[in-house]
Amino acid sequence: MTDKDTLLTIGSQFASGKPVRKRVLPKATSSLLPFKLKAYHFPSHGLLNGVHTKRILKNKYMLSSFSATQLEKYQSCPYAYFFQKLLQIQPNVAETFSIPAYEWGTLIHDILSRYHLKKKDDLPSKSLLHEISDKVWLTLSKDNIHWEAKKSLLYGSANQKGLWELYLNWEASHRLPFKPQFVRIPFKKIKITYQRKSMFLSGEIDMILGPNKENKVAVLDYKTGRTLPTKAKMKRFESLQLPIYYLAAQEKFPHTDVIGCYFMHMHHDVYFGEKLMLVTEKHLSEMTPLKHKPLVMQRHFKKDLSQHLVTLYSHILDGKFQAKDPLALPDFEKKRSQKCQTCSYHTLCRYEKRYGQ
Ligand code: SF4
Repeated sequence: MTDKDTLLTIGSQFASGKPVRKRVLPKATSSLLPFKLKAYHFPSHGLLNGVHTKRILKNKYMLSSFSATQLEKYQSCPYAYFFQKLLQIQPNVAETFSIPAYEWGTLIHDILSRYHLKKKDDLPSKSLLHEISDKVWLTLSKDNIHWEAKKSLLYGSANQKGLWELYLNWEASHRLPFKPQFVRIPFKKIKITYQRKSMFLSGEIDMILGPNKENKVAVLDYKTGRTLPTKAKMKRFESLQLPIYYLAAQEKFPHTDVIGCYFMHMHHDVYFGEKLMLVTEKHLSEMTPLKHKPLVMQRHFKKDLSQHLVTLYSHILDGKFQAKDPLALPDFEKKRSQKCQTCSYHTLCRYEKRYGQ
């Protein structure tokens, strides 16, 4: 049995709720796992709720920081989180020449952050953006049709404007209320407390707009995917990135007024442009665009968000990694088969409803 097979056996037995028998574990197994595994760490019903297991989880996570991506992964399917974060099985990505979404997203983020860090004034600079883009492109691109298609997407073609042209035009249009001031702002160990339980958050904000003369700032995050989260999804905290960045911006810029959060959509010429996703109640009238209504952060927003985050954290600490909704969200099960179809752990998973009802 190879190391990977062993991990898969553990994962499948966990899914089926059976305890893992020691005989399936070769001697070297413990070195593969982020914790020492014993049979009693896998009680039935897909919950890691043994006393010893809880102690291990507590030691592992008590002082760790969670990112928005990690928490979104957990709330999307705790079992997939278990595979990835606890068993540390890398997602099963099929061999392909196409460019993975995360790689493309990183490339766009990297070029734009370098561009804004190097720029000397507020005017768009085509030469600088292209100079940086060309350099990054040379180090990453491969000689195949997928990268050629992405090149036209960036630099444009006879039929469509490229993302860089769109971005420079957008910059020149001054559609944002404040100018970009800070780029790639890391945050670490931001403490969130709800009812005397605490957890920590970490991550990196793409851009802070402002402060303006009135000391107001806003958060901006680049998004390269086709779809953006809906207002309903934001309201249910199914999308956590901007809400978490909002909390982080308040901590990092304590003497300013953080008034809202934008996504900058960078997919292609149709799905392009800034979209205000969150705005404080106080600044609603001055920020709301005509076409699209953002989610208004009312007075209880921060408390609700803290409760949501601390609940997720408590579930992780309690060993709740079963393939069920940890928060009983309304359409979690309805979306199950769609999620399972695109899940990287589909072939390992033994959850009986992964093919739908
Ligand atoms: S296949 Fe479905 S149930 Fe199984 S880990 Fe993936 S998302 Fe979760």
